Amino acid sequence: MMSEERGGMLAIETTSLTKMYGGKAAVKRLNLKIQEGEIYGFIGRNGAGKSTTLKMICGIAWPTEGEIRLFGKPVSDPVVRRRLGVLIESAGVYPHMTARQNVVMKAMCMGLADERSVDDVLRMTGLADVGKKKVKHFSMGMKQRLGVALALLGNPDLLILDEPINGLDPEGIRELRQLIWKLHEEGKTILISSHILGELSKISTNYGIIKDGEMVEQLTREELEEKCQDYFQIEVQDVKRALALLNEAFPNVQAEVLDTRSIRLYGVGNSAGVNQMLIENQIQVYASGFHHMDLEEYFLNRMEGGRQYV
Ligand code: ATP
Repeated sequence: MMSEERGGMLAIETTSLTKMYGGKAAVKRLNLKIQEGEIYGFIGRNGAGKSTTLKMICGIAWPTEGEIRLFGKPVSDPVVRRRLGVLIESAGVYPHMTARQNVVMKAMCMGLADERSVDDVLRMTGLADVGKKKVKHFSMGMKQRLGVALALLGNPDLLILDEPINGLDPEGIRELRQLIWKLHEEGKTILISSHILGELSKISTNYGIIKDGEMVEQLTREELEEKCQDYFQIEVQDVKRALALLNEAFPNVQAEVLDTRSIRLYGVGNSAGVNQMLIENQIQVYASGFHHMDLEEYFLNRMEGGRQYV
């Protein structure tokens, strides 16, 4: 099995990973590839199969079919599993204890007796100075950072964070983003799942889009930015006729109908020519202009199953 690509080691590689629940596939033949050092944003709507995939990677759920390799080794390998830190839901956090007590407790369970491991993860996550405050009085952001602190015990090379942005306010999101970048700078590989597209698009270096248990696309940040093309949008009185005229006059331009008035055109070089042609054919143009498709829009398009070209 190949575990190295583009010169780097694959931190995670799944091959044809499948999970069936009662005859229904939650994850279907998923080939996921994450290189060492990536911040991989795993994106999909609720129920798309993200959590099921992550649980299989962490060894909490068993695949029905397929294979998972971490750093080139099978996921069942106990040595490689020690390189993994996981935040899946907020399990394992005791609300009546302080952040430090929570971390000490888990450190003891993991056989990490030294105080330094505890101090290191509290400092990394900005929880070193919260003192005697009990976790039940923490903000959502602090709770998520505590979850990351627990995942960081044992200094793992690979971090898996399931929906860590959920329920965070803008300040909490900013803090978490900075923490993730700090961990990335230290050389850690991070897999982070979310259905909040806009936020994930600001954090990640790579993306995987999952829909109905299947991988729709994997791409780098640069590839994604390239794909977010400019488009020319027009608002017209008669969409049907305008489309027919556009197809005839500009056969290379792709058109997408948004609603009863609006058409989006991709690949327009001469916008004045489009307007002029429509007006000459007695089509009223209420508005027209160039726009840039943002990352969130691209994801939505992919998850709707692609753009409808006419
Ligand atoms: P969410 O963000 O809502 O958790 P998700 O993308 O993580 O969404 P999964 O939780 O992986 O999606 O769920 C994928 C599909 O598998 C869903 O249809 C879900 O109902 C189903 N599913 C998940 N866990 C189980 C289970 N233990 N038993 C039966 N069906 C399940």
